[in-house]
Amino acid sequence: MLNQTGNFLKRILHKISPLLIFFVPLALAMEQWACGAKPLPRPTYTESEHRRRLYPLSSESKPRQTPAPKTVLIEKTPSSSKVAEREVKPPPARVAANDRTQVTITLAPPDLTFQNNAAGEREAVYRLKKGEALYSAVVVRFTGRVDADEVNALAQKILAYNGIRDATKIADGTPIRIPLRYLDDEILSGKMPPAPRPALPAARPRQQSRQALHVILDAGHGGSDPGTMMRGWVEDEIAYDLMLRIKQGLQNRGVKVYSTVHDKQTGDQVNSGSTLANNRDEYVKVTPEYYMEDSRVALNLRIYLVEDLYRWMRQRGIPAENIILLSIHLDHLHPSLGGAMVYFPGAAERSSHYQASGRIYRNYKESRIGTIAFTRRENDAAETASENFADDLIAGFRQAQIPVHAYKPVRSYVYRHDHKWTPGIIRYSRVPVSVLLEAANLSNRDDLWRIRSAAFRQRMAEAVVRTIMKQD
Ligand SMILES: [Zn+2]
Repeated sequence: MLNQTGNFLKRILHKISPLLIFFVPLALAMEQWACGAKPLPRPTYTESEHRRRLYPLSSESKPRQTPAPKTVLIEKTPSSSKVAEREVKPPPARVAANDRTQVTITLAPPDLTFQNNAAGEREAVYRLKKGEALYSAVVVRFTGRVDADEVNALAQKILAYNGIRDATKIADGTPIRIPLRYLDDEILSGKMPPAPRPALPAARPRQQSRQALHVILDAGHGGSDPGTMMRGWVEDEIAYDLMLRIKQGLQNRGVKVYSTVHDKQTGDQVNSGSTLANNRDEYVKVTPEYYMEDSRVALNLRIYLVEDLYRWMRQRGIPAENIILLSIHLDHLHPSLGGAMVYFPGAAERSSHYQASGRIYRNYKESRIGTIAFTRRENDAAETASENFADDLIAGFRQAQIPVHAYKPVRSYVYRHDHKWTPGIIRYSRVPVSVLLEAANLSNRDDLWRIRSAAFRQRMAEAVVRTIMKQD
């Protein structure tokens, strides 16, 4: 039987192979024409390959198993009004935040109400406002999913749950029912801010002069890992360009800047033309240099390099609060999402130690230190300091009229495959202020249009520099 099937497949393949030889190059040429891009001398990845390269899981970062959602304990109230929901029980302890069997909603976003479905299970309800789309106004906003595939998949599930066939034909005011198992933990634990965060008051006072600030800049990807590619624009090159502009601005103001990545071809030269370099010449500045053949190794070496720089600074008496780590990336999210987003390391998302496993790490001075350990106290302090700095960054962008993510521009995680995910570079950094900036969503038409402009990138870099200078 197997043999017969094998022969059958062989015959089919034999018959269609001449067609493939003709159609595949044609399809590729059409795609290049449609995108208006010159062929890139780089490998292209599928979405999942890209994600794997982009966000490799180190040995420490395997997602923990979240218990399957059972019954959610929400006190029954006479009506489903949001006021009643706010009065029940004190907020759960942070440790219980992952366990949805223990969760009580204490403070929901103002537009979200709760009721029982036909089976007697609690569900959230949101009424779509004029001009709102299910993807951004419901899925992105309330479920913490941002990746295109995940937003689309969850939107389909929510549509099916509501018995709606076509997402594009939902009338304004239609109540969208959302099973609680899809809601972001921050809503269930009452931590979700009810409205966009207001700008914070003046930055915290600091003893040292601004010359004493030390900033580590990490431009994402590079070498054989270009990151996201969109119409000829490549994430690693845009990130490197932003990094150079920020570096220049900071150095002009007397700040000491360290970078984790160097591009042998571009060097420190900011390119003010309308195009950017597109090369594989970036390396991680470990000893000896690492040219990023493997993006997982590159990430781990970056983590060790940041730790090495941090230890070196601390040994020289530089106060921890004068050190900042800023990692720069560009996103590849659902196209409905636009604007800048900043990640900070949440204490709950961190583990107690980090170590990359593999023989390759014996070859580099920085990764020979082995384990990086985190204390609970350090993690709590880093969460607060980094979140404050992330808020300041977003406020600075708003001031400079640089678009930011509509609902939640500052976050410690997003959901990927139903698990919380935080970028490794900040998750495993002991620098008290560590943030990752997703400067724009390259899948969003307006974001891509803006970030292609050197003037816009300069404006963004200056907003970052101004925010950093306010930290002293
Ligand atoms: Zn990236």
